[in-house]
Amino acid sequence: MSGNNKIYKGFSSLAIHAGQHPDPMYAHLTPIYASSTYVYDEAEQGSRRFSGQEKGYIYSRWGNPTMNEAEEKIAAMETFGIVSNGKQVEAKAILHASGMAAISSLLLATLKKGDKILTHYSLYSGTQDYMKSLLEPLELTSIIVDLRDLSLAEKYLKEDSTVKLIYLETPANPTLQCVDLKALSDLAKKYGKITACDNTFATPFLQQPFKHGIDFIIHSTTKFLNGHGTAIGGILVGTDIEFMNTRATKTHRLLGGNSNAFEAFLLINGMKTLELRMQRHCENAMQVAKFLAGHQAIEKVNYNGLPTHPDFNVSQKQMNHPGAMMSFELRGGFKAGVNFMNKLQMCTRTVSLGTCDTLLSHPASMSHSSIPRENRLQYGITDGLIRLSVGIENGEDILNDFEQALQ
Ligand SMILES: *Cc1c(COP(=O)(O)O)cnc(C)c1O
Repeated sequence: MSGNNKIYKGFSSLAIHAGQHPDPMYAHLTPIYASSTYVYDEAEQGSRRFSGQEKGYIYSRWGNPTMNEAEEKIAAMETFGIVSNGKQVEAKAILHASGMAAISSLLLATLKKGDKILTHYSLYSGTQDYMKSLLEPLELTSIIVDLRDLSLAEKYLKEDSTVKLIYLETPANPTLQCVDLKALSDLAKKYGKITACDNTFATPFLQQPFKHGIDFIIHSTTKFLNGHGTAIGGILVGTDIEFMNTRATKTHRLLGGNSNAFEAFLLINGMKTLELRMQRHCENAMQVAKFLAGHQAIEKVNYNGLPTHPDFNVSQKQMNHPGAMMSFELRGGFKAGVNFMNKLQMCTRTVSLGTCDTLLSHPASMSHSSIPRENRLQYGITDGLIRLSVGIENGEDILNDFEQALQ
C-alpha cells in the first residue's frame, strides 16, 4: 500500500524513497531478490504465512521484496497529494510481466461472462486486439465509440445494463486524443459502473486518474516509468484495497503474469528520476511540436499541447503538462514519411516510447499493421502518419536532426 506518502512535500522525494524498506543486510538499494521461494523457521510459520496470520513472502509468483518496492512506489506516485474526506487516498499496486499482463488481470478480475466493456476507439493496438481476439470468444464484448461525446457515452450506460466497465486511455495512441476522466467517472458512478484508465502516456507525474474518480489505473511500465528501455513491465493499481487484496491478487497469482526481481530493480531505479526526465521530455516536446507545426513540409501535427488539437481543453484541464508524445503527417504522404524516417541521423527508428532517446515509428506499417486499413483511417491513422516519442537529448539536436531530414 502507499502508506505514509504524505510525509513527502515533493514528487521526486517520494519517487526516490517510497516503497524502500530497510534491508536486513544493510544494502543501500533493495537487492535483486533472485529467489523463487522463501523458507520457514518451522512448519507452523509456513502455515501462518499461508493463512495470512503472519506477513511474509511465500513464492515469487505471488510476491517478492524487489517487486514490492516498485509496487509501493507506483501506488504512492498515483495517490500523491490526493486527499479525500480529509484523508490521504491509499492504493495497492500489483506488478506484472508486461502492460498486457496487467490489462489481462484487470479485465479478468472485474468481468464475467456476458459483461460488456465501453471504450473509446483510439486505444493501444494490443489492448484493442486483446478485446477482440481473446475476450470476444469468452462472451465479453466491447462497445467501441467516441467517448469524447458524453451524451453518447451516457446513452450506452443508460440503455445497456450489461456494460460493466468503462475502459479509457488518455492521451491515446497515436492520435493523442484525450477523454474527460472526471466527466466519464461521474457518469460511471451515476450508473453504477467501474472505470479504468491506461495512464502510460501521461505517467503519474503529469496525470493522476484517481484524482478524477477513476477506480483502476494500469501502466505499461516499459515506457516512461522505466524510462530507459531496459525492461518490459506493467502494473495494475486500485483504490479498492479489499478488491485488490482478494480478487485482483487471486487473478494475478493464477494468471501467472508476474514480473521478476531483475526487471523490477531496473524499473525502481528508472522511476527515481521520473520528475526530472518528464520535465525535459515535456520541454523538448513543446519545442518540437511548434517547430513541426510551423514547417512547410508538415501537413498536420497531433499534439494535445497545441491549441489546434481538438482535445486541447480536456488535456489542459486534467494534465499538468500535455506530455512528450505526438504524431504528425508529412505533406508527401507515405513516401515522404519513409524518406524522412530514413534520413534521420540521431533520432531512433523504432516502436515503443518513453526512453531517453527520441523514437519515431510508422504506425501504418508497424504497430497498427494488423488493423484493417479502413478501420485504421477511421481512427486517424493515415498512411503517412509518423509517431514520435520526444526524448531528453538537448532540444537543439532534435530540431537539427528533423530539419535536415525534412529537406
Ligand atoms: C506499450 C503499451 C501497452 C502494452 O504494454 P506492454 O508492456 O508492451 O505489454 C499498453 N498501453 C499502452 C498505452 C502502451 O503504450
